[in-house]
Amino acid sequence: MPIGAHVGVSAGYGRAVEYAASVGCECIQVFSKSPRQWNARPMDVQCAEEFRSRVQTTGMAGVLVHTSYLINLGSDDDGLWERSSAALADELVRADMLGADGVVTHVGTRYRSDPAFTATRIAAGVDRAFAEAGSSATRLLLENTAAAGTTFGDGPEELGAILALLGTSEGRVGVCLDTCHAHAAGWDLSVPGALTALVDDFERCCGMPIEAIHANDCLHAAGMHKDRHAWIGEGTIGYAGFSEIFEDYRLRGLPVITEMPGEVPLKDAENVSRLKRLRDACAEPA
Ligand SMILES: [Zn+2]
Ligand SMILES: [Zn+2]
Repeated sequence: MPIGAHVGVSAGYGRAVEYAASVGCECIQVFSKSPRQWNARPMDVQCAEEFRSRVQTTGMAGVLVHTSYLINLGSDDDGLWERSSAALADELVRADMLGADGVVTHVGTRYRSDPAFTATRIAAGVDRAFAEAGSSATRLLLENTAAAGTTFGDGPEELGAILALLGTSEGRVGVCLDTCHAHAAGWDLSVPGALTALVDDFERCCGMPIEAIHANDCLHAAGMHKDRHAWIGEGTIGYAGFSEIFEDYRLRGLPVITEMPGEVPLKDAENVSRLKRLRDACAEPA
């Protein structure tokens, strides 16, 4: 399983890849525009080209793009829902230009406090985004949330409900499992077997849709609904919980990305290397 980090692109897309390689990343996640703004200039063709060529020369084994935090496909407000769907379409196209394997997005809030309606509304927003993006769109990965406030999509049931309701975009959408969010939402991943049981639930609920892992430890206790990431092994999940990622055959080969607070380059170099140690310890003897 390639291990990498979410890295900033403020110094340019090519530099972001160089930085990722310098801290030991084998895969990479970036924003394709500012995550807190609706509007952005179109993706510069040359920047995208440079990014793709550096990904190739550094041998990155996976590229993910994370969407803007403003996207809310469950919004009660029709205008905001439309805007979110259009923004998602733009993300799918930008990510395709970057040669990404997938776009990771949070789905949004609960529509009129009704889970069934929410899944329908989000699925419709996803279909609409793919229709608008046309043929040049990457895969879309729905990320599980910490179930804080009114957010939707905490786990297999809610994300599975969305996947089941997709129309024209069926087959183009999977899941990105964030360990911190699952733990915060109530799946206590410090308990032996808990990660495996969560993957079992995904398998039972909606096939095996997980296509990427966000490996983040959790600052607060399980079930507190607080999305604060901690360094690997320093939070309430702990090393043993992360080892299970590398032991489950169903997750084999998936990109593992850390999204950590702290100072660069140490936070990335350190967390990537901690995960590599866990992975190597799980490797079957030759
Ligand atoms: Zn995440
Ligand atoms: Zn988070």
